[in-house]
Amino acid sequence: MTFEAWLQSRLTAHGFACGPIDGIVGPLTIAALRGFEEARGLPVDGMADEAVVAALRQLASRVDEETAEAVERRDPPEDAIQRIDLASPTINRWPRQNEVSAYFGAVGTRQTPIEIPFDMVLAWSKWTRIRRMTLHEKIAGSAERVLRLVAETYSASERAALGLDLFGGSLNVRRMRGGSRYSMHSWGIAIDFDPERNQLRWNAPRARLSHADALPFWQAWEAEGWLSLGRARNYDWMHVQAVRL
Ligand SMILES: [Zn+2]
Repeated sequence: MTFEAWLQSRLTAHGFACGPIDGIVGPLTIAALRGFEEARGLPVDGMADEAVVAALRQLASRVDEETAEAVERRDPPEDAIQRIDLASPTINRWPRQNEVSAYFGAVGTRQTPIEIPFDMVLAWSKWTRIRRMTLHEKIAGSAERVLRLVAETYSASERAALGLDLFGGSLNVRRMRGGSRYSMHSWGIAIDFDPERNQLRWNAPRARLSHADALPFWQAWEAEGWLSLGRARNYDWMHVQAVRL
């Protein structure tokens, strides 16, 4: 049994159904994982980290003991934790904010351009088409996979309605607003979409990307281990980052 299939069977055993136990971590599994994290008082980040694995190993509550037995109690494969650290294509384990220098190196270094698989324009200069964005080489492949999925999930008019065609910046070496720490954009590990309709201090439902039709967009990022500050903290809904809080 792969770690992914173990994860799905344990979530199901705990009463968080994630569809067929097929070892493919998609939106249903991530949603189940987030529901489990919330119920257990763990950080709701959709990441199968050590705390989640430990909680999943415990027997499900008496209420769903029957389900638990039906699914069978199993321990994760011995290399499970290690495999998460090695960043599988479906569950990446990006560093936390205080670990970014150690993981990504100096700000502004190791950058690479990626092709954007749909039409984008500069948010503040809408006659300027954007075909590439610059990201850190460690997360570039992951971002490309997400953007391809976004291109397949939404039509051009749906992307325009959501503002997914409005590029608000990726690499940008600068300090955080009102602080001395570097912004996550300084390492090219964050991307902004439609900043005008998702202003920094706007919450749901004012921020456009907090609406229900944006959910598949966020789930596509979360399936690759990226974090939305909007989804996690209800501000800065323009922003997604390959960094955990
Ligand atoms: Zn940002």
